[in-house]
Amino acid sequence: MNEPIKTDVLIIGAGPCGLFAVFELGLLEMKCHLVDILDKIGGQCAELYPEKPIYDIPGVPFITAHGLVDALMAQIKPFAPVFHLQEMVETIEKVGDPLFRVTTDLGKVFEAKLIVVAAGGGSFQPKRPPVPGIEAYEGTSVFYAVRKMEQFRDKRLLIVGGGDSALDWTLNLAPIARRLTLMHRRDQFRAAPDSVNKMRALVADRTIDLKLGQVTGLEGEGGVLRAANAKPDKGEPYRIECDNMLPFFGLTMKLGPVANWGLNLAEDLIPVDTAAFETNVPGIFAIGDINSYPGKLKLILCGFHEAALMAQKAYHYIFPDKRLVFQYTTSSTSLQKKLGVM
Ligand SMILES: Cc1cc2nc3c(=O)[nH]c(=O)nc-3n(C[C@H](O)[C@H](O)[C@H](O)COP(=O)(O)OP(=O)(O)OC[C@H]3O[C@@H](n4cnc5c(N)ncnc54)[C@H](O)[C@@H]3O)c2cc1C
Repeated sequence: MNEPIKTDVLIIGAGPCGLFAVFELGLLEMKCHLVDILDKIGGQCAELYPEKPIYDIPGVPFITAHGLVDALMAQIKPFAPVFHLQEMVETIEKVGDPLFRVTTDLGKVFEAKLIVVAAGGGSFQPKRPPVPGIEAYEGTSVFYAVRKMEQFRDKRLLIVGGGDSALDWTLNLAPIARRLTLMHRRDQFRAAPDSVNKMRALVADRTIDLKLGQVTGLEGEGGVLRAANAKPDKGEPYRIECDNMLPFFGLTMKLGPVANWGLNLAEDLIPVDTAAFETNVPGIFAIGDINSYPGKLKLILCGFHEAALMAQKAYHYIFPDKRLVFQYTTSSTSLQKKLGVM
């Protein structure tokens, strides 16, 4: 087993509520690690609506979702949170009172005194394309995310999709692949124009191939892919020899492993008390979209409030012998020192 990473608090989910929890816990001298399955920080704000304006953050008349994530990152910088992206928390085991051993799908192990579940609507999971028998190749030849680029060195790659992920990985993997084919249903792409232009330049100088069509079947055996069969909207079916296929068809949100952590659930949400937003397991808190209580609103500002109250109770677990004195950031020199503003 890997050597555990020890931390006061492990936050599951780096959405806006998980990020603000770092601030509230940091003011009270608790150190945090955060794990998120996405390859970026910001949860729904970053993944679903980065360019959209948000109008209901208190005291901020207008900010884009991306701008809010940037602002939260600046706000929590003094507390040096450690992020573990592209990893999904799979198991939580209670090993002390309270002390938890947490493992991710990449085999990383944490030992955390407390856990804050800020998992939003659950984990974002890739949409599987409707290709018969694709399951037999998943994890061996078909991948929905790129965890380690080296895995694809000198391979014949088929990337399928027309959005930002498909185009970004086309550009990133083209230099290391033996041959790379990008396939999309039509000759129009939803990705950033700059990425589309770069991709077209690679096609023009024959560094990569661009094919129009949809994958209809896979050839291979024992999970080892040999070729993909495809069909364009108009014209004859064709075949592409490939070692790996990487479909990028967007993400859906599923509760995922949260359901297996021994927490009470009510309609896929975690019931909490409204004094500390603690779950039925002492030492495990749930804030943001993932929790439920009478009157709950799935708003970022509600998650921020929950983070502040959660941190007060968390303090008593981490520092059982210390008295917690309530302080304002405007007037407390000790808080201002922690924030690095004096
Ligand atoms: C289009 C749209 C517009 C919106 N507009 C507004 C608005 O104007 N104002 C407003 O207040 N709210 C708005 N919301 C809602 C707001 O985005 C959510 O309330 C907020 O994102 C919840 O934050 P969170 O941190 O609880 O969860 P999320 O933002 O959902 O983040 C949760 C994170 O947890 C991760 N995760 C889940 N399970 C695991 C696991 N097992 N291991 C590792 N990581 C995991 C996920 O990958 C995700 O990144 C909008 C939502 C949408 C979709």
